[in-house]
Amino acid sequence: MKIIELLEGNKSFASGIDKRTLRELVEKGQKPVATIISCSDSRVPVEVIFNQIYPGTFFIIRTAGNMVSDTSVKGSIEYAIVHLKTPYLIVLGHTECGAIKARLAGYNEGEIGKLVRGMKLKSKDLDKAVIENVDLQVKRVIEMECVKYALDKKTIEVYGMLYDLSTGQVNCLSKNGAPFLLEF
Ligand SMILES: [Zn+2]
Repeated sequence: MKIIELLEGNKSFASGIDKRTLRELVEKGQKPVATIISCSDSRVPVEVIFNQIYPGTFFIIRTAGNMVSDTSVKGSIEYAIVHLKTPYLIVLGHTECGAIKARLAGYNEGEIGKLVRGMKLKSKDLDKAVIENVDLQVKRVIEMECVKYALDKKTIEVYGMLYDLSTGQVNCLSKNGAPFLLEF
């Protein structure tokens, strides 16, 4: 694909989208419904998989392996929780995650090595390690002061979810750090 094709794609996006709604978002500011921490993997296009492709719906932080580690990630989460007050916070892992594979393979070079060493995983099996990593990142999120506070005030719900690259389905694994049970 050539860069011009991307720019052409944007032209068609900009000409098709409702300008009044865009202006409203600029004037009133954003009020996203969820903060989502997902993997950077191109096969996990967050807005697309939740069928929410309109601007203003999600506040998304994407890192390899949906890791919650440094200040850029935590600062972004804090901004979304404290200032935007998103009612949902979702850690979204996915099957066949390359970052988890690198961790299991003991990859140790450069910045990638540093990143994957930060995943404290016990599982050696890929599918289990992916889920364990979602749980671990949920735990890290829940330990953040602003999230603890919002959980106490019941102004936020924290979910761990898993996206299946092969089926396109998202499964909910946990809610507020406990196993997720379907509510009717
Ligand atoms: Zn991944």
